[in-house]
Amino acid sequence: MESSEIRELFPILNQKIHGYPLVYLDSAASAQKPIHVIEAVKHYYEWDHSNVHRGVHTLGMRATDAYEGARVKVARFLGATSEKEIIFTRGATSALNLVASSYARTVCRKGDEIVVSAMEHHSNLLPWQQAAKATGAVLKYIPLHPDGTFSIEDVEKSVTNRTKVVSVSHVSNVLGIANPVKQMAVIARKNGAVLVVDGAQSAPHIKVDVQELGCDFYAFSGHKMCGPTGVGALYGRKALLEQMEPIEFGGEMIDHVSLHNASWKELPWKFEGGTPIIAGAIGLGAAIDFLEQIGMNTIAEHDNQLTRYAVEQMERIEDLTMYGPKDGHLGLVTFNLGNIHAHDVATVLDTYGVAIRAGHHCCQLLMRHLSIGATARASFYLYNTEEEVDRFLLALQKTKEYFKE
Ligand code: PMP
Repeated sequence: MESSEIRELFPILNQKIHGYPLVYLDSAASAQKPIHVIEAVKHYYEWDHSNVHRGVHTLGMRATDAYEGARVKVARFLGATSEKEIIFTRGATSALNLVASSYARTVCRKGDEIVVSAMEHHSNLLPWQQAAKATGAVLKYIPLHPDGTFSIEDVEKSVTNRTKVVSVSHVSNVLGIANPVKQMAVIARKNGAVLVVDGAQSAPHIKVDVQELGCDFYAFSGHKMCGPTGVGALYGRKALLEQMEPIEFGGEMIDHVSLHNASWKELPWKFEGGTPIIAGAIGLGAAIDFLEQIGMNTIAEHDNQLTRYAVEQMERIEDLTMYGPKDGHLGLVTFNLGNIHAHDVATVLDTYGVAIRAGHHCCQLLMRHLSIGATARASFYLYNTEEEVDRFLLALQKTKEYFKE
């Protein structure tokens, strides 16, 4: 299917903004939804909605089947060995918080180490800061090169036999580079640590196989991969999840309750206290069906090709600075245009119907490392076309002219 045909499946893209056709280049923040996902959520609410797990009535059973069916899809999508290794969460943020609050707080003692990088999104940083504070563990940073990246040698030097957790992004939301998580998993294991992967920016774009990556935990958000907001998942190795205590307590997650104690259900339900994210999970399952139908390798190829095209053209624009290594930019490019503030660039682009993001991208440490306050970011996904990239480039030229005047 051509990207122009795929684009037709996303109703929101068929509109004008300030009189121009919408060019949506902000999918790294949140992707748009194909009609399949919208219909799946609508169908669920129109026909199947009920609470799950408890009902013996028909709607209860339909809702449970659809919810648990979505879990099977996520397990298959990530290459998990069992759907019991998939916990539905609100998104990558709550998945990472779950590991930091439960696993790290259980295994870390004073003087142990939690290793992260300064490239991390705040969602893969603040939970570890809190876990370190709560346990007396040391939060250690893999040193970054001037361009914001790190090498496997830097990881070798940072991880020791005191390290209990290593947590990094698979793909950076600022630099667009892929970190060497496969090799990091080997280093972590050799030192008796676990590897947590923040997959918020990889799951939408590339085929992920947690067995092949060798990671112990993998977190992602549904809304960045054509699914609804408010749902995501945590993959965890069964043996580790079994050791972990829940962090939310209430209905749905218990086995037996007595006056002063309670026992938990088996995996994965012990981590899903309360009425779960039923419609969200069903929508996420539909998003996975949609992405798999197109093919993750086809999507990766398209996104990379489009980003390469944009980067090549942007290199020709005088005064435009791009951040990160040249061979990075997996689906996104972060930049500044002369000394025009990134927010001004994004504001003028919006007047031409082009939606990009501006700011620190929840990566204040990386921004400080690169000595920049804010950047603009254009991100590309399966529904974007070369023609849209051209509109974006033209809008950048107009922005330059506007500020010259
Ligand atoms: N990690 C990375 C690399 C991200 O880009 C994001 C979203 N910007 C997150 C984590 C957090 O995702 P969410 O807000 O959906 O929980």
